[in-house]
Amino acid sequence: MRVLAFDDDAAVGRLVVRVATLAGMEATAVTEAEAFERSLRTDPPQVVVLDLQLGDTDGVEQLRRLAMQHYPGGVVLMSGFDARVLGTARVLGQSLGLKVVGALEKPLLVAELEQVLELVQSVGQSLSTERLLKAIACNELLLEFQPVVSRQPHTLKKLEALVRWQHPSVGRIPPGDFLPMAESDTATMDALTEWVVGAAVDAYRELVKLGISVPLAVNMSAQNLHDLSLPDRLEQRLRTGGMPARHLCLEITETAAFENAVNTMDILSRVRLKGMELSIDDFGTGYSSLKMLRLMPFSEIKIDRSFVSDATKSRDSRAIVKSIIDLAANMDMACVAEGVETEETADLLEQLGVRDIQGFLIARPMPVAAIPTWLAIWMQGGSVAPRAQT
Ligand code: C2E
Ligand code: MG
Ligand code: MG
Repeated sequence: MRVLAFDDDAAVGRLVVRVATLAGMEATAVTEAEAFERSLRTDPPQVVVLDLQLGDTDGVEQLRRLAMQHYPGGVVLMSGFDARVLGTARVLGQSLGLKVVGALEKPLLVAELEQVLELVQSVGQSLSTERLLKAIACNELLLEFQPVVSRQPHTLKKLEALVRWQHPSVGRIPPGDFLPMAESDTATMDALTEWVVGAAVDAYRELVKLGISVPLAVNMSAQNLHDLSLPDRLEQRLRTGGMPARHLCLEITETAAFENAVNTMDILSRVRLKGMELSIDDFGTGYSSLKMLRLMPFSEIKIDRSFVSDATKSRDSRAIVKSIIDLAANMDMACVAEGVETEETADLLEQLGVRDIQGFLIARPMPVAAIPTWLAIWMQGGSVAPRAQT
């Protein structure tokens, strides 16, 4: 792991380099903005250790720069100025989308610095594709299920499987934190999807035993749509698990990966011919949605939650939601609104003509074992939105 320290006080930089080197990391220190920029560009570090007071520039300005460059590594802040400024800078960095993993008061305590660097190292390792492949093999992944329901009539339509990573030292990692990395490598993404499908089929059997027979949706990356044997492999997995093909829905987010339209059309057509359902996820936010809708054999549209959550407040979002609902109806497709958090939104959606909804108002994602209890309460009309798992 490479560490880059930026402090106008060269002695502090040397201390960081010494501590990091002793911990087995590669480390360099710079004292000026120009050298900092250069190192970021030519030799990108996994961690930046950044002082807030820097002479010609300051740490806040540098945070903004890092955010603009979408710097993906960890950031450790340090300051001898005022603990409150350090706290604000930390929140600011996080709000800018940076991974701020520590904020250290000066004078630096070697033990604290060691601790933060160790944490960064374990997070860094946890987010490598090799480590994810190991996690798949060691069963560190798990699925939670979030219901899609219809309010009129009051029925459970399906359950969407959402993957989580229970890392032994880092804790629970949400998919948004490791999927982008998984998507950078096709073999990793394929292994992940294969695990997810297998675990979903297992969960289906468990649910059937509990008396609940309901379709499941799994998310798939457009990255997975390169191998023409995918539909056959899915069919085989369903057959060995005793799950009817019509009870599996693949949710796919449109991305630039759809560009390889020939393979994608081949795979998605065969998925449908084998009886599986096909949903276009996060509709409206992706890459040339309408073209994909015309080209690919989707059976369902999921309206992105950004439009849904806004629909009661924004006339424009409401118009977009209404248009998507009409589009689905005119194309004989099912339509689901995701991200429904309030009764007001659910009522509005009903007025606009969408019956199937998903969101925290109905339930948060939950382990398969929690579904029977949730379902029993929900069927009686109770309000049951279980707390998020941490
Ligand atoms: P998605 O498929 O659009 O899933 C919905 C996401 O929105 C889930 O986040 C869910 O917890 C969250 N959500 C549901 N209802 C609400 C709500 O009312 N309010 C808010 N604020 N959020 C809500 P999660 O589980 O973190 O998943 C994020 C994304 O990661 C998913 O978005 C999906 O694109 C991807 N993903 C999850 N599991 C898998 C998987 O097994 N394979 C692949 N390829 N992608 C997955
Ligand atoms: Mg989805
Ligand atoms: Mg979605």
